[in-house]
Amino acid sequence: MSTEQAVSVFVAGSTGSVGRQALEVIESSPGRWSLLALAASGSSQASLDALAAQAARSRPRFLAVSDPGGAAALAAVVPEGIEVLAGPDALAELAAMADVTLNAVVGFAGLGVTMATLSAGRRLALANKESLVAGAPVVQRARRTPGAELVPVDSEHCALHQCLRAGERGEVATLVLTGSGGPFRGRSRSSLASVTVDEALAHPTWRMGPKITVDSSTLMNKGLEVIEAHELFDVDYDRIEVVIHPQSIVHSMVTFRDGSTLAQLSRPDMRLPVGYALGWPVRTEVAFGALDWAAAETLEFEPPDLDTFRCLGLAFAAGREGGGAPAWLNAANEVAVAAFLGGALPWLGIAEVAEDVLASWDRAPLDEVADVVEADGRARRAATRAIERVLA
Ligand code: MG
Repeated sequence: MSTEQAVSVFVAGSTGSVGRQALEVIESSPGRWSLLALAASGSSQASLDALAAQAARSRPRFLAVSDPGGAAALAAVVPEGIEVLAGPDALAELAAMADVTLNAVVGFAGLGVTMATLSAGRRLALANKESLVAGAPVVQRARRTPGAELVPVDSEHCALHQCLRAGERGEVATLVLTGSGGPFRGRSRSSLASVTVDEALAHPTWRMGPKITVDSSTLMNKGLEVIEAHELFDVDYDRIEVVIHPQSIVHSMVTFRDGSTLAQLSRPDMRLPVGYALGWPVRTEVAFGALDWAAAETLEFEPPDLDTFRCLGLAFAAGREGGGAPAWLNAANEVAVAAFLGGALPWLGIAEVAEDVLASWDRAPLDEVADVVEADGRARRAATRAIERVLA
């Protein structure tokens, strides 16, 4: 047992998949972390109920929800001594108070937590890639705040973060991002015209929330991860590769200029990258996802099919454009995925909407957070019009 003071943690998006696994990680090492606060992923009754149950078990000092009505209802049911806060200012206050904030909010809505944590000079454990992808110009500036630190939770970027510790930055030749290929790996474009939501949500190796699971099926998730890797590690797009690896055991690799490739391997278990980011720079004592090397294992690698999975190429294009292009692509994707999940857009339509919206990007600069939010809004309206065109 360490005699050092526990690191205080704020889990934003605690009722989602990554948030729930983060609470398991924290519980697995008593005394290492203290839970400062939890914030729900949504404002539905189900997420309020889930937050109340988490509070009763984990006993954070604070809870945060988006609206005052939900806060009042929650305050009536949680154990005494837990303070319930409401609104975006509450999230910012908690992010400034905690030693580490885990941003496990889903989608662009996570921008506020990312900005608040970095601007307060705190450590951000980032499981919300959308805020970095869409808000890169402003997030990178906030990242330069003294004390601010960004440690990725995304399993590929956690792998890269680990592999990069093996050499100097100038020695890196390429970052190699792996992806499972999702449920539709090997399928032709024509055979994907009528796939259902259930088929898209049947991920072969990872169990995740619905938005990211659909993104995995289109390879948009991998595309957003390419942009995320560029922003996190400042490596040119020409030196970022994607390789399909169906077993999801190799989480990503770094090739150095002398030809050496280093990889990080473990079972697909998000508790490992969550623990790595919360514990950085000291690894957790509990092993999550360790491989059994006595058991036979075959690892396969193949190039991605860019004709069938066009979202990957679109993301490379948006990343190379820079500025607001990734924000437009991300917003288009969020709108298109929501429409697909609601049964209002075919699966192939997701890439069509993304391509259409990216082509209409207005090149407005992103100097402030408000510019990012407005760009996101304009792109969402463009996406709604694009869906109408695709369906016409
Ligand atoms: Mg990932």
